[in-house]
Amino acid sequence: MNSDNRKEWNDNGNDTLTPSRVREDGYGMMDNGILIDLTLFEHRSPDGDFQNVVTIFYATTMDQDGGGYRCAGCGQIIPTNRPVFLMTNLQHMYPCLDEGKWVWWTVSSRDVKTLKGME
Ligand SMILES: [Zn+2]
Repeated sequence: MNSDNRKEWNDNGNDTLTPSRVREDGYGMMDNGILIDLTLFEHRSPDGDFQNVVTIFYATTMDQDGGGYRCAGCGQIIPTNRPVFLMTNLQHMYPCLDEGKWVWWTVSSRDVKTLKGME
């Protein structure tokens, strides 16, 4: 990651990185073909402030009742090969393929406890 890429990310970030460019491992392909590790960047939340990534997890981790873990934006079941990001504000950030956009939502304390139990 050079400084040009970091600047481009800070200027545009999630606005230009469409969910279809985000891979299972949490890397994203920028317009210039550079692959970046999304966990290394701050991401602008819907509130306008910047948050860091705490960890990446997958829907299988959260699917406690077997009904599928769903996107809070559209309600679609999150595929098990799609990364969900836990952010420092304890929200989930998810690159939703169904909506073609980044979706943020607040996680219940029970779910956060579950995640911490995974570590
Ligand atoms: Zn969605």
